Amino acid sequence: MRKILIVGAGQAGLQLALGLQAQGYEVTVMSNRTAEEIRGGRVMSTQCMFHRALQHERDVSANFWEGQAPKIQGLGVSVAGPDGSRAVDWLGRLDGHAQSVDQRVKMAGWMETFAQRGGQLVIHGAAVSDLDFFASRYDLVLVAAGKGELVSMFARDAARSPYDTPQRALAVSYVHGLGPRPEHPETEAVRCNLVPGVGELFVMPCLTTSGRADILFWEGVPGGPLDAFQETKDPNEHLAKTLELMERFTPWEYARATKVELTDAGGTLAGRYAPTVRQPVGRLPGGGRVLGVADVVVANDPITGQGSNSAAKCAASYLASIVEHGDRPFDEQWMQATFDRYWETARHVTKWTNAMLAPPPEHVLNLIGAAGQAQPVADRIANGFNDPSDFEDFFYEPEKAEAYLASVTG
Ligand SMILES: Cc1cc2nc3c(=O)[nH]c(=O)nc-3n(C[C@H](O)[C@H](O)[C@H](O)COP(=O)(O)OP(=O)(O)OC[C@H]3O[C@@H](n4cnc5c(N)ncnc54)[C@H](O)[C@@H]3O)c2cc1C
Repeated sequence: MRKILIVGAGQAGLQLALGLQAQGYEVTVMSNRTAEEIRGGRVMSTQCMFHRALQHERDVSANFWEGQAPKIQGLGVSVAGPDGSRAVDWLGRLDGHAQSVDQRVKMAGWMETFAQRGGQLVIHGAAVSDLDFFASRYDLVLVAAGKGELVSMFARDAARSPYDTPQRALAVSYVHGLGPRPEHPETEAVRCNLVPGVGELFVMPCLTTSGRADILFWEGVPGGPLDAFQETKDPNEHLAKTLELMERFTPWEYARATKVELTDAGGTLAGRYAPTVRQPVGRLPGGGRVLGVADVVVANDPITGQGSNSAAKCAASYLASIVEHGDRPFDEQWMQATFDRYWETARHVTKWTNAMLAPPPEHVLNLIGAAGQAQPVADRIANGFNDPSDFEDFFYEPEKAEAYLASVTG
């Protein structure tokens, strides 16, 4: 039986572990926190996942919360005008529903399932020296430790990483008590509120440790008015600041939020990171090789809500590559080929996400505006969150955008 070590118990590490386990591999997962510590800790993400990524979870029988989590049927975009009104406002319909299950619920649950299904779970924060020791004892070592310190083993790919500093300051609050959305009270939706030159507010329903909740997520241009959370340590102060900024920049969202309170003391998160693509193979001091997974090798800004989706797609792609490789050695050539196969999906996410971090060119503004008049345009943009490769055909180049709009609007 082939032995595989996975370092990191996140979306990618645990989904891959459950998939390998089901195929008869002997899997060890190393996590720097216990399930209880994760469940009782701080929120880590907003983790909205779309149909394709959710299907990968179903494929490994790990969609445990699908019946309880709100089914997100739409994705809306609002653009703030200079006077605080909404210059643009539409709702695209998703072909398959999306969901956000708090990673505290999901990762803690998956860790317990992995152990119950006979997996070896080791609670230990791995250092490079540990990996050096384990590399010779396992057929394959995968590093799925997110954006933590172990990324230093993987060289930055400058050609694929146009930004070398964070492009947004992030501030998340999980709340109970958000009022219904008056425009479409029956449809659960993610809403992207764009405030030109300032940043974005994302609002979405989720399932958290205390049941159904909503997430308020500011992405602020560094140095601007939304970049205000770095020094805020008190969760209630964090929420108060979030609401103050909503009242100022997105009053239509604030109007629903006057009665909200935090879900729990761990319900806030602030931070920032530079979007980075890395070389997939880490070389250990003792000569061993390890393969980076998901955020370790491709970390995009959360502005497009893709990291967990990509982690699920990476885990599914790596699972296929591992199984198809049979009993042959997992050498450096295989590792590179395994990453290259995933990059065919990931490159579209990186291109689109990096584009969204820059001020939008005129043809993109036209597309976003046209979606308010033509439902097919709204629907196509919304479904691009499920499969960002579609943006290649109508989003990046002015000629393609114009041709598409002409075909829809006649
Ligand atoms: C504010 C914010 C909002 C986001 N919103 C969305 C969204 O709406 N949709 C979406 O798809 N994505 C979103 N993302 C991105 C998404 O959360 C990540 O891309 C995704 O979780 C990456 O999964 P992963 O498995 O690669 O890493 P992670 O989820 O980071 O998991 C890595 C795990 O490894 C553990 N670990 C780290 N170092 C070690 C070590 N040395 N030894 C052992 N264990 C270790 C960590 O504790 C962690 O549990 C968001 C991210 C942020 C920050």
